[in-house]
Amino acid sequence: MNVQATTTVVTELESDAMVAGIFTDGILGSNLADLNAAVGGAVTRLVERRDITGKAAEVVRVLSPSGLQAGELVIVGLGDRAAFGQAQALQAAGAAAKQLAGRPRNRIAYCLDGDWDDAVTSAAVCGAVTGCHGQDLYRSERKLHVFGEILWSTGSPQAIAEGVVLGECINLTRRLVNEPPSMMTPVRFAEEAAGLATTFGLDIDVWDERRLHDERCGALLSVARGSAHPPRLVTLRYQGAADDEPAIALVGKGVTFDSGGYSLKPTDAMKTMKCDMAGAATVLGALVAVARLSLPVNVHGYVGLVENMVSGDAYKLGDVLTSRRGKTIEVLNTDAEGRLVLADVLDVAVSQGAHRIIDLATLTGACVVALGTDVAGVMTNDQAWCDELIAAAQVCGEPVWQLPMFAEYAEQIKSDVADLKNIGDGRWGGAITAAKFLEQFVGDRPWVHVDIAGPSFAEKPKPWLDAGGTGCLLRTLLQLLRMRS
Ligand SMILES: [Zn+2]
Repeated sequence: MNVQATTTVVTELESDAMVAGIFTDGILGSNLADLNAAVGGAVTRLVERRDITGKAAEVVRVLSPSGLQAGELVIVGLGDRAAFGQAQALQAAGAAAKQLAGRPRNRIAYCLDGDWDDAVTSAAVCGAVTGCHGQDLYRSERKLHVFGEILWSTGSPQAIAEGVVLGECINLTRRLVNEPPSMMTPVRFAEEAAGLATTFGLDIDVWDERRLHDERCGALLSVARGSAHPPRLVTLRYQGAADDEPAIALVGKGVTFDSGGYSLKPTDAMKTMKCDMAGAATVLGALVAVARLSLPVNVHGYVGLVENMVSGDAYKLGDVLTSRRGKTIEVLNTDAEGRLVLADVLDVAVSQGAHRIIDLATLTGACVVALGTDVAGVMTNDQAWCDELIAAAQVCGEPVWQLPMFAEYAEQIKSDVADLKNIGDGRWGGAITAAKFLEQFVGDRPWVHVDIAGPSFAEKPKPWLDAGGTGCLLRTLLQLLRMRS
């Protein structure tokens, strides 16, 4: 998306709409003060009448303001000045963008105030880029119209450019999630990854079903067996540091549609299951972002792509699978398929020398029961590594919450007929028993499991972002990699 830094005086900027911000304390920053003077004090009057409160993501539109070269002046609330950070900047810029995108616009000028640090400016730009993109991929009449261009009047050109990359990569992740499941099959996802790898200079390896068989990925292949669409395992490599520097592996669950298999989901639970590849889409978006920003780190992405369906040959309850690592797994619920896919993908990452691992997966409904729809659950075998991820998430204002990994939980995944079973006893602690299962496949590597079943897909829109795929935690991953570089 075209976002340009501008040094033109705000009162002389020509645009369809200008966006300025105000905190709840009502104090006008220098841009807004200039705009207010140009429109004869109209903003001050709106503040005095409490039509503008500065409340977070509040959007007040002044149409055809006299004295400005703009079709409208939009005042967006920045919330409490003391609580302001990346998330608030993103949400404010996004809320203005989402409202303005209701009809086609050529040029929007953002004239937000404040000497924000670069990361906050980037987050705001990111919010503007994501806010005007919707999930309406197949509507003849779009609900949201992407702006022709954005002019940005504050912050360094570098911070603005970085915000564009973050926003575009989040939009990439969102689009992959929002595509219908019969469109975004494992093969199609792998093709998208190959195209992006070529464009942005990533090494890529795509394993087809024959190679997966040769590599003994028995758990992943069992899940895939019920589908007419063959599975894929995609490896992406970005080498931004010396070749002998250790690599961080990002591992994503890519179940392109999850019917539940013979443990069939009811309609209400199945209707959004195109989003069960959000982990894979986030890993791909993050690898593209790392490459575009040329971060000096080595990052490898591993995504396991399957469709979980029913057919005469689909895997069954009571089946025993042999994973790539050699551990046998009794299947007692075919809807607990994500951990089976990840078991083999994690093992591939470990055997290819991943130094540290983060996996992202829409893994359990239990995590949503525990933490709600806006918070990701994190679980780990290495507290220091987990603390790094949590710190990055806090900087970005993306909510995550750690769940415990006590040994007692692992008792529940012991099987009487195989090494493991793929589901705990009953429904209690299901997010954690799933993580204890994954832990069996990461060896001694520092590993954080991120369950994004809640926040990766929004059934309802937010003021700053349309419903559908959210691209959650992509900014956090980039922040984490930057902190390590
Ligand atoms: Zn499932």
